[in-house]
Amino acid sequence: MEKAIKNITAPQIAGGKKYILPPWRINEILLEVFSVLSEEEYYKEGFDYKKMIEGMGIKVKKFSSFSPENLERFKENSLSLWDEGVCLLFPDNETREQLRMIAYNDSHNAVETMQIILHEFAHIRLRHTQQSINGEVEATCFSMAMSLMFMMEEKFHIGMRAVQLEGKDFFMDSIRKCIGKKEVA
Ligand SMILES: [Zn+2]
Repeated sequence: MEKAIKNITAPQIAGGKKYILPPWRINEILLEVFSVLSEEEYYKEGFDYKKMIEGMGIKVKKFSSFSPENLERFKENSLSLWDEGVCLLFPDNETREQLRMIAYNDSHNAVETMQIILHEFAHIRLRHTQQSINGEVEATCFSMAMSLMFMMEEKFHIGMRAVQLEGKDFFMDSIRKCIGKKEVA
């Protein structure tokens, strides 16, 4: 318990106001989302976001696979403040190599489950190092953007069509240009 409290830091962003992200930070998060989508070729047939995450060496586990005591311990040490998921980084006892694990509340529907897993994945991709309110907002931005892209792909194959028409690099370059575009007077 003491440890969990110690890890919670006061939000430092936007003059100490809670829950507020500056617009450039939201764009950075969007770019990170598109960079993962592009690297992992999310538009390919048979793409599976859980396999993508596991392919990065991150373990993905269900809450129901742990004892209540272990789950409680994981939640206390999680990077995430969200009760629906856990994100743990810890060194291997022997090799000291950093191990990464995501766990999720497996009592939800498929899209809710995706939101939870992508939220926890975001803590890793955005290199969060401790629990914070702004970390939660960032992770939710990330998971919302990425899950929308996955749903749009499944229904409309937007990424696949763009890549077929213009090529893989064009896809990512266009997004970068769009996000970096100056306001037109
Ligand atoms: Zn979180």
